[in-house]
Amino acid sequence: MVNGASTERCQIIDDQKTFTCELNNQIQRWGLQDAGFGYDVVAVFGSQSTGKSTLLNRLFGTTFDVMDETRRQQTTKGIWMCRAKGMNLMVMDVEGTDGRERGEDQDFERKSALFSLASSEVLIVNMWEHQVGLYQGANMSLLKTVFEVNLGLFGKKAQDGATQRTLLLFVIRDHVGQTPLANLQATLTSDLLKIWDSIAKPEDLAHAQLTDYFDMSFTALSHKVLVPDKFEADVADLRRRFADREREDYLFKPAYHKRIPADGVAHYMEGVWEQVQSNKDLDLPTQQELLAQFRCDEIAAGALEEFNVQAKSQRKPVEAGKVVDGLGAMMFEWKARALTRFDKDGSRYHQGVYSRKRADLLAQLDAALAALFLGQLKNLHKQALASFKRELSDGLKGEAYSFADVVAAARAACEKRFVDGAEEARLKDTDWTFEDELTLLREEMDAVAVQCRSDETKKMVNVIERNFRKQIAEPVEVALSKGEPEMWDHVLKSFKDMLAKAEQSYLTKATSFNCTEEENTAALATVRRRAWQALKGKVDEQTADPAILSKLRTNFEERFRYDDKGVPRVWKPEDDIDGAFQKARDETVLLIPLYAHIAPKDSSLEFSLPNETDLTAADGDFDFEESLVVFSETKQLDLTARFRKEADAYYVEAKRSTVSSVAQ
Ligand code: GDP
Ligand code: MG
Repeated sequence: MVNGASTERCQIIDDQKTFTCELNNQIQRWGLQDAGFGYDVVAVFGSQSTGKSTLLNRLFGTTFDVMDETRRQQTTKGIWMCRAKGMNLMVMDVEGTDGRERGEDQDFERKSALFSLASSEVLIVNMWEHQVGLYQGANMSLLKTVFEVNLGLFGKKAQDGATQRTLLLFVIRDHVGQTPLANLQATLTSDLLKIWDSIAKPEDLAHAQLTDYFDMSFTALSHKVLVPDKFEADVADLRRRFADREREDYLFKPAYHKRIPADGVAHYMEGVWEQVQSNKDLDLPTQQELLAQFRCDEIAAGALEEFNVQAKSQRKPVEAGKVVDGLGAMMFEWKARALTRFDKDGSRYHQGVYSRKRADLLAQLDAALAALFLGQLKNLHKQALASFKRELSDGLKGEAYSFADVVAAARAACEKRFVDGAEEARLKDTDWTFEDELTLLREEMDAVAVQCRSDETKKMVNVIERNFRKQIAEPVEVALSKGEPEMWDHVLKSFKDMLAKAEQSYLTKATSFNCTEEENTAALATVRRRAWQALKGKVDEQTADPAILSKLRTNFEERFRYDDKGVPRVWKPEDDIDGAFQKARDETVLLIPLYAHIAPKDSSLEFSLPNETDLTAADGDFDFEESLVVFSETKQLDLTARFRKEADAYYVEAKRSTVSSVAQ
């Protein structure tokens, strides 16, 4: 608290009847802002110069202006407020309330009465002893006004059935002592009842009693000038009745409290004064609702501001795609803090308004947090998918992996990470879910797995093809070297055996891949076609021009240069060289059509593949029938011609050898 600020006074309504805009700050400086309902309000009423301000200053240590004795100068009209020293008490000094005496401004008297009754628990009615019994006096006119406006304000029972009570504390000044207080009290009471009877009451309140609305208490103070010590003692005693809760005659009974939270007092009073000033009906329940709306909005705004600063700290990283660790816990804390903050001050206000505003605030908080939650989900999703891909490719690097196991493990780990993260970020008191995101993630992981499986299958088929190519080479070379009639049977037999093994090796691997029937069918078709092409490649290599010509030559030589027992021939002139030559040549030429078509003698060894015309396939067009043809007709003629030429050379050489042997 600022030094001296605790007893600073404040003119809340000036002589122009304008309400100050400083009250809220002043209440803060008085240190009462956070008092909640733990504060009291007292106001003083009475004729001019009856020592009201003096009394308040003595009682409460306030600093109200006191009339200067020497100049008899009037203090400023209006309503002043000051905090009592050492008490959570706002004291109102209402100056110039007795319009009658001043012969002017009964309007202000009425307005200040309304204002004071709407906010004070205790109304001190201050009068000289000699004023008691002056029924027609200024005080009585003032009290009449007070009773009338009170009926207007609190006439109707509140919704909970209670009537708003106010304590009227009559303080009789300069009590000489000749007339006992009891007598003065009796006189005043009977006057009050007379006044009560005289006021006009609405029909439904015709039987209302003064005591339905007011408690009354009477006290007298000794003469300040004549017996100053006694005066001081009386004041001290009265002070204790305001300050000491333990006393039986403690004045601030809870029933008098107007139930305006301290942080709303300034706004409430200003609203009340505005209504009073514009001569509108002062409807306190409405005032309280308006106040509640205003304050709850303010409190919510404060809570929201702090919340937004906190939420903002994580918005950037979330928007940047980062998974924020512990986001859920943070969000829970921000939200709880905002609500606690709102509840602390807001819950003291009109319950309907408070609940409504709380729901509004909650909706705002949840909306802001939901955006973060969704962002976090998106990031978790991305992260899970990325790590799924990574774990999949890491898992597939190992030699002896089972594709299905690798996928299942990666899938389970990534899904768990996503669900754990999403569960952490989800606020339990909301209807937020992440089912959709999870479903999507699962679908995407499946798609990745399918793609990966297809890649892996391709790799596998390639490996099988490579092995096949290696293994088929030798059997083909051997079978085609001789040009025996069953050579294609041998080739196809080996081919089929090896293909069966290749297919088996595919299927063994594929089981762990969880491949579908279609995928298996497609992959096996590829294996068969590639195997066939590998075979055909080898066949082509073995029947390329030099190779086939060399085979024909070897074949021819064996027939022509060796006899039936495999012994090399030495031609003699009498030998039928021409006949032998023709036979060997013609038999060899007959091998060309044998090589020209891949065709087994044993039809059960025949092999076939469907044609493929898929231009998008990497291997391009494939025509099986065409692939069975090793040499076309033209090629066969060409080979025959070339072979014949070579054979002719052998013939000439044979002839020459006989000539030379004859010549020897
Ligand atoms: P207010 O106008 O009612 O606020 O009266 P003030 O407090 O300004 O006092 C008016 C005059 O009465 C001042 O000159 C005070 O000194 C004097 N006064 C205050 N209290 C008493 C009292 O108890 N007895 C007497 N006789 N005079 C008092
Ligand atoms: Mg005064």
